[in-house]
Amino acid sequence: MSGAGRVHIIGAGLGGLSAAVRLTEAGRQVTLYEAGAQAGGRCRSYVDEVLGCRIDNGNHLLLSGNNRALAYLATIGAGDSLAGPQGAVFPFFDLMTNERWTVRPNRGPLPYWLLDPRRRVLDSRLGDYPSALKLAFAKPTDTVAALFAAKPLLYRRFWAPLAVSVLNTQPNEAAARLLWPVLRETFGRGAAYCRPLIAAEGLSESFVYPALAWLQARGGEIRFGARARTIRYDHSRATSIRLTGETIELGPHDQVVVAVPPTVAATLVPGITVPTEFRGILNAHFRLGVTAPEVSILGVVGGATEWIFRHGDLVSVTISAAEKLLGYNGAGLASLIWHEVARALKLDGDTMPPWRIIKEKRATFAQTPEQIKLRPPTQTAWRNLVLAGDYIDNGLPVTIEGTIRNGEAAARVLLR
Ligand SMILES: Cc1cc2nc3c(=O)[nH]c(=O)nc-3n(C[C@H](O)[C@H](O)[C@H](O)COP(=O)(O)OP(=O)(O)OC[C@H]3O[C@@H](n4cnc5c(N)ncnc54)[C@H](O)[C@@H]3O)c2cc1C
Repeated sequence: MSGAGRVHIIGAGLGGLSAAVRLTEAGRQVTLYEAGAQAGGRCRSYVDEVLGCRIDNGNHLLLSGNNRALAYLATIGAGDSLAGPQGAVFPFFDLMTNERWTVRPNRGPLPYWLLDPRRRVLDSRLGDYPSALKLAFAKPTDTVAALFAAKPLLYRRFWAPLAVSVLNTQPNEAAARLLWPVLRETFGRGAAYCRPLIAAEGLSESFVYPALAWLQARGGEIRFGARARTIRYDHSRATSIRLTGETIELGPHDQVVVAVPPTVAATLVPGITVPTEFRGILNAHFRLGVTAPEVSILGVVGGATEWIFRHGDLVSVTISAAEKLLGYNGAGLASLIWHEVARALKLDGDTMPPWRIIKEKRATFAQTPEQIKLRPPTQTAWRNLVLAGDYIDNGLPVTIEGTIRNGEAAARVLLR
């Protein structure tokens, strides 16, 4: 593209990578500056020395209706790198009652699965479900508990686990409004759009390494250990980026994408508002030494464990909005979680396999009505600088899908 300058992208998480991919596709030259030694940010995999295998920093669940995430994977040549159960099946186990059930939406948008008690939440009634439509009309101040706690069974077995896992915020403070677009685009369109998916090999193997290779093959530059310290501005545009030990002067047509977490963005870009509260996610990994024939996902209610992923010879557990547990030591947490896992998967609870606990203390910002008001838009006061990343305002929860949409939105604004 003649006359177009280089795009300097600060941060090589999925926000920066997805912006880089779309800009490169449109013919722009990009340089990514990543403070760390590797890309992927909060969505990456690595070899764990205790377990002796690759694990993800946190289990990441996608749904087959996450269309921009799937489009991103297709572009970078990793379209077949996700795995999951054969269909849209969500088995659950209740630790308090020892009961099991499987939620199984049908094909197509008409939810006739709700007519079949064997396909819906155990002991729930058909009349419990129309209340889902309250989400479409939720006020900005409504929490998930305010809308649904009046029907305690469905709340405990469906709305609360859904809210805490999608919004990483306890349902009594989670903004209900963010759930509606997720339900509409996945469960609301039928089974083909709500099949659960995880990275088959690892998050980096799906979302990060193929993107880096794709960008480099097209002239994209990636600089690791390159932490942006400050950005200088004149009255209308960003003019330079200061890294540790080096300053990048921006040419008249150069542009910038700031794709770092919100607290860092606030130090680089004056005058923006950003969310200020965060919630942690706890992951427990157990290496069983016995390989499962296929990927399976189990929802758990009535205990600490929320989701169990079984993949290869690993069993991995996710607990979102886990502030109450983050202060406990790893061994205590591993033992508590293993006993729940053993019951849920009918394994021998007395013999705990090798384990690893990972605490991501600032996994996402707290998706409360107050905090979502602080999400900034993509565009800034500077005409050659835009924002990307999961916290940018798009009406969606903080997920891979939302992050990729924000990266693409940043690219679109710069290409205009
Ligand atoms: C444990 C966990 C579980 C999750 N589970 C799910 C899930 O199940 N499903 C789902 O869809 N989403 C999930 N998410 C959310 C998803 O991972 C994030 O929303 C997404 O990865 C955020 O990407 P990002 O690019 O906005 O930010 P980041 O990944 O934080 O990337 C920002 C990058 O900027 C770099 N950086 C920071 N400061 C500077 C600087 N000054 N200069 C240069 N570089 C800098 C960082 O090193 C980092 O690489 C989960 C997140 C976590 C942590």
